Formats: sequence, structure tokens, C-alpha cells
Amino acid sequence: MESVKPIVSLENYKEVVGEEVIDELRILARHLEGRRLQNINSTAVGGGVAEILTRMVPLLNDLGIQTRWDVIHGDNPFFAVTKAFHNALHGKKENITEQMLDCFRATTEMNLRQMDLGDDVIWVHDPQPAGLIEKKGQAGRRWVWRCHIDVSSPDERVWEFLRPWVEQYDASIFSMPEFAQKLPIPQDMIAPSIDPLAEKNRDLGVSEVTAVLEKFGIDPERPVLTQISRFDRLKDPVGVVQAYRMVKQRQDCQLVLAGGGATDDPEGAEVLAEVREAAGDDKDIHVLELPPFSDYDINALVRGSAIVFQKSIKEGFGLTVSEALWKGVPVIGGAVGGIRLQVINGVTGYLVHSPEGAARAAVRMLGDPEARRKMGEAGRQHVKQNFLITRHIKDYLLVMLALDHPDEDVVALQ
Ligand code: UDP
Repeated sequence: MESVKPIVSLENYKEVVGEEVIDELRILARHLEGRRLQNINSTAVGGGVAEILTRMVPLLNDLGIQTRWDVIHGDNPFFAVTKAFHNALHGKKENITEQMLDCFRATTEMNLRQMDLGDDVIWVHDPQPAGLIEKKGQAGRRWVWRCHIDVSSPDERVWEFLRPWVEQYDASIFSMPEFAQKLPIPQDMIAPSIDPLAEKNRDLGVSEVTAVLEKFGIDPERPVLTQISRFDRLKDPVGVVQAYRMVKQRQDCQLVLAGGGATDDPEGAEVLAEVREAAGDDKDIHVLELPPFSDYDINALVRGSAIVFQKSIKEGFGLTVSEALWKGVPVIGGAVGGIRLQVINGVTGYLVHSPEGAARAAVRMLGDPEARRKMGEAGRQHVKQNFLITRHIKDYLLVMLALDHPDEDVVALQ
């Protein structure tokens, strides 16, 4: 399929968000001219952080902020440890051993030796690279820890292990107020965002959508329920299969579970096997293992769906929710974390607590196309007002300005 690469220029966003929004970004950016911003995370591909950085880095450069993005190195044992940390910080019971903490420290030290750290603003994403702060004083004028995960009830052992590093940052950013922590450093609450002009979100024609559904053996004439997610237990793909089975007793439908891996998530293959087993030989369940950068296909799969699920048990934000709402597709989401910012119950979709709840909501929505259309419309407006990349960039620019004026409550822009 021909992939159309949008030109990365903020000018193109005027038609989506209006001229004033872009002008305001340019004014803010002028006050940060010449700043060099280095982003560091743990994977270049897969998952929401990589998704955001892929779009954000070129746009910040377009604004005159010299922005780069680097990825820490780690081997499989390290990423097994960080995945356990990730689960534990989300409140899942994990057996964290002393050996795992040693492995984390050793990889941090290796990255401290090997990485070329910048000399201006360093933006560290999530726990995996958090220990790089040890270079503070030698590199980076300002350090920000951007936490994308739901740390509202973290495993104490992991949080206390990370805390001495986190406390050294100049500022921290969490996705919603519920995730805030008792910390001696400033905390900002900034929700993530999606890019309306990305290949994954741009408008597509009906024939393009139909062609993708057919390519995957999905019948465009019958309702499609979809979840797009890494195969991760916290995304509860097996719960989605259970919900689908209950729906299927009442309404004809098909289920799509589409996902790929992330290089920092070693559990994917195991979870995929569990999903395949749960799906059995039901010809109406399509478990799609997508390669990286399947953005066009994901765009079309979502647009071809009657309902999108994001039935997570824990979720930092869940970009997939905004991605669906932006396309006018209502979402049935687990009532957790950042999903609650995006799914307004009964307005942009439904918040649920169980496969039974998800099935009940789906049956109700499948039976009422007009309500679905209205929810989709409300969803698109909700995303337009709150979860587009332009709002996100503005928030980041404001954090950078605040870092430049640490002792001022109000920063006057002349
Ligand atoms: N995604 C993708 N391919 C897949 C599965 C997911 O490109 O096979 C994308 C998805 O569209 C979204 C991001 O990866 O943009 C996942 O972000 P989210 O915040 O939903 O979850 P995370 O993976 O970060 O927990």
C-alpha cells in the first residue's frame, strides 16, 4: 500500500487546530530559541512513548528547538527486569529480587559510560533510563523526568529503589493528577497526545478502509470490534475475547485483536500465545501480529470498526483511545488511569470493569448506530480540544520556560 509521508511542518496543522494555536506555539518557542533538548527512552519502536516522540521531535525542530532522541541500550535480562518494574509500578504483584536491582544498576552504569548526553535540557522518559540523572552536574543544564505510567499505587520496593534518582531531577511530569507522588521536586500534570496528521490518524477514504479489512480477511459488511495493543496482560486481550464471546451470543460481529511488539517488552510472545489459545478456531476472531510501522493498516482497521476496545486493567494513558475517538469511533475502555480522561462514560464511549460490562456496553452500542455516531462525534471533539499534539507541545514549551525561570511564579514574555 502506498504510504503518504506527511511533511512535518507546523504550518500543516493550521487547518486542524486553527492559526492562533500555531502562532502561539511560535511565540513561546521564540523565547526558547537555541535551546537543545535531548529525549531519552528505552525503545525506538512500539508503545506510546516511541509513538509520541516520532511525531514530536521533528515538530519541535520545526519550532527552532534543537531536539534529538536517543535510546538506552539494554539486553534481554535488563528488559525482563524493566518489564517487571513496569508491572510492579502499575501495582501488579511481582517478585523483585536483589539480583534484578543489580541488573538494573549495571545497565544504568553501562549507559552512563556510553551515552552521549547533551548539555542543555535532558528529558528522560519512564523508569528504564531514570538513573542517567547520575550525570547531573556533568551534563544537562536541566533534567526532567517524564513518567508515562500509572504510578498511583506503586510497588513500594520498586518505587523506593527509583526514588533517589527521581528526586534529583529539576522537574517531573505525570499524565494525570491521580499519578502525582510525594516528591521534593516540581510536578506537572500533562496528558499525552496524538498527531492528527500522522499516517495512523490522517483521513482515509471508504475504499481504502475496505481494502485493508479485506486484506486481513475481515468482512466489511458485518460489525467489527477491535482492540489495538501490544500483547500485554495489563491490556487484558483475553478479557476482550471473553467479552466478544458474550456479545456474539446476542449480535453477529467479528473481533480484531491487532498488536505488535516493543523492543523493551519481552512478554509479548507469551501473551500472544495465550490470546491465540483463547481465540481457538473461531473464524470471526482475527489475531493480527503487525510489524512495526503498520500505521496505515491500523488507521484503516480502526476506521472500519464499529467499536474500539481498550479494556486495560492498568493504563498510563492509552493513546489507542484517542486514536479511535479522533476517527469518530466510540471506545469501550477499562475504567483505569488515563482512559478515564478520554472515555466520558455515556458520551464518548463506556467505562467498564469486567468482560461482562464490556459485553453489555458493546451489545447496547451495536444495537444503536445513531448513538454510536453521536458518541464518535463527541469523541472527536473531545480529542480535538484536549489530546492533540499541538496542546502537548505547548505544555512542554511552558515547562521549558518554567525551568528557565525556576524562582518565578509568573514568567513575563516580552
Ligand atoms: N501500536 C502500534 N502497533 C501495534 C500496537 C500498538 O503501532 O501493533 C501503537 C498504538 O496505535 C499506539 C501505541 O502503539 O499509538 C500504543 O500506545 P498506548 O499508549 O496505547 O499503549 P502503550 O503500548 O504505550 O502501553
